Amino acid sequence: MDMKTRLAKIVGPDFVKDGLAERYVYSMDMTENPPKQPAMVVMPSTVKEIQEIIEAANETLTPLIPFVTGQNVGGLTIPQVDGAVIVDLKRMDRIIEVDPVAMYMVIEPGVTFGHVRKYLDEHYPELVYTYPLAPPYTSVMANALLQGLCDFSTARGSMADFVNGLEAVLPTGELVKAGSGILGEGNWFGRYPLPDLVGLFSGWQGMTGIVTKIALQIFPRMPYSKHAALFTFEEAATTDLLIQIARSRVVDDVDCHSMSLVKMLMGIPYPVEVFEGEPDYGTLISISGNSLEEVNANYNVIEQIVENAKKDDPRQILVSWKAVKKLLGDEADSWLDFPSNAFSILTEFDGLSWVGTYINPKNWGIALQGGRKIVEKYGFELQSFLKPMNRMHFGEFKFIIRFPKDEDTLTRVRQCNEELLDFALDLGALPYKTPVWATNKLIERVDPGFLELMKKVKKTLDPNGIFNPGRWGL
Ligand SMILES: Cc1cc2nc3c(=O)[nH]c(=O)nc-3n(C[C@H](O)[C@H](O)[C@H](O)COP(=O)(O)OP(=O)(O)OC[C@H]3O[C@@H](n4cnc5c(N)ncnc54)[C@H](O)[C@@H]3O)c2cc1C
Repeated sequence: MDMKTRLAKIVGPDFVKDGLAERYVYSMDMTENPPKQPAMVVMPSTVKEIQEIIEAANETLTPLIPFVTGQNVGGLTIPQVDGAVIVDLKRMDRIIEVDPVAMYMVIEPGVTFGHVRKYLDEHYPELVYTYPLAPPYTSVMANALLQGLCDFSTARGSMADFVNGLEAVLPTGELVKAGSGILGEGNWFGRYPLPDLVGLFSGWQGMTGIVTKIALQIFPRMPYSKHAALFTFEEAATTDLLIQIARSRVVDDVDCHSMSLVKMLMGIPYPVEVFEGEPDYGTLISISGNSLEEVNANYNVIEQIVENAKKDDPRQILVSWKAVKKLLGDEADSWLDFPSNAFSILTEFDGLSWVGTYINPKNWGIALQGGRKIVEKYGFELQSFLKPMNRMHFGEFKFIIRFPKDEDTLTRVRQCNEELLDFALDLGALPYKTPVWATNKLIERVDPGFLELMKKVKKTLDPNGIFNPGRWGL
């Protein structure tokens, strides 16, 4: 029996496709990473079907690529080898459990940020999840597995830090669990005290199996909130201020954008012009609390930090959200309400790419300065985004490029991104959602023991090397 017939027997003929149109759609993403067509796409709806697909793949040595919406902006679901089968998990979209006491939810891979927001608003309005700037139709689980960043990251770290446990089908077909859920369903309160086997799936880009369920922390909705915008000049002064604000522990989140990104959100058409004398960065600050007094007291802490900074540069300004709305209109509120389509403007061209990293805060300002020069050298808009992470234990920055995918521009994007990454790696930054070209650069520099350990883990879990082959140099 050929693979298509075998897969059709498992999931039904409507859910296996190998037509030109499907293979084309799944062969690429918005990035500059070279496209490559898969052989087929299969859409399972149960764990059992996933196990049967994996059994067939092991027997035929067919590469499998877990997929939900392919919006990772790293080329992570583009096949690297011939004959790959995309395992599209969109049909597995159940919110299985919400525990309002231990504050977690258990969800399947196809659950999106939009689903979660709607479900919690309807059934648990006292609870919230955390959202990235990503489109609402992308996978919550995939983002957590990719260690993404979201609108609680300044206070609480990467989305991977919210994982309480998971269930996964290994590349050899066994169903396994990690986290407190090993004692039974309804018990997914945390990962400790246990060997932390969640790490076998976190950051692996779908190379170690298919996660079929994930338990993620949710949070109390605070009754009061306040927002403000901070406009700043120069990279060193901007990162200094962000560091102080994040360390003050009074903010939920801080999102800093270069002015061209702010203007893009305001609807100013491409290419966004930058004028002399205007601030370099605009930062959105989010504060919440149990009472108006608490929120105002927290806001006063931020005001004080900015007042002190003004002694060095009086141009730094903190603006209340009321004033922002007066200037920009009610539209400004759409930037506060996640998940949001506000950032879909990033996808106005067929091309979107970035070099994004997590970095030691001591190198954050230097990275921003150097990155800015590189982006300007290649003639792209300065669309930088930075976020203090986990109360400033580390920083995040990314340089975003939106672009038309003609050959000349693609070449320029590749060169610019390579130069940005080399520069970032020199500063000890770790790229996230790392494309193949970037992992190749990274693994040249990392501790060899780490690479050997990765190889051992991969070989043990996936002896036939069928899961998303070609990533992480494996
Ligand atoms: C405009 C825009 C803005 C964005 N902003 C942000 C942002 O602010 N913060 C942020 O973190 N991200 C951001 N992203 C990135 C992206 O949206 C998220 O990472 C997204 O949630 C990934 O979901 P996906 O459905 O696209 O996953 P996919 O791209 O389909 O999969 C991602 C990876 O996970 C693997 N995978 C998927 N499902 C499984 C599974 N069940 N088991 C094992 N492996 C699996 C895949 O093989 C792949 O390697 C943004 C993207 C866009 C387009």
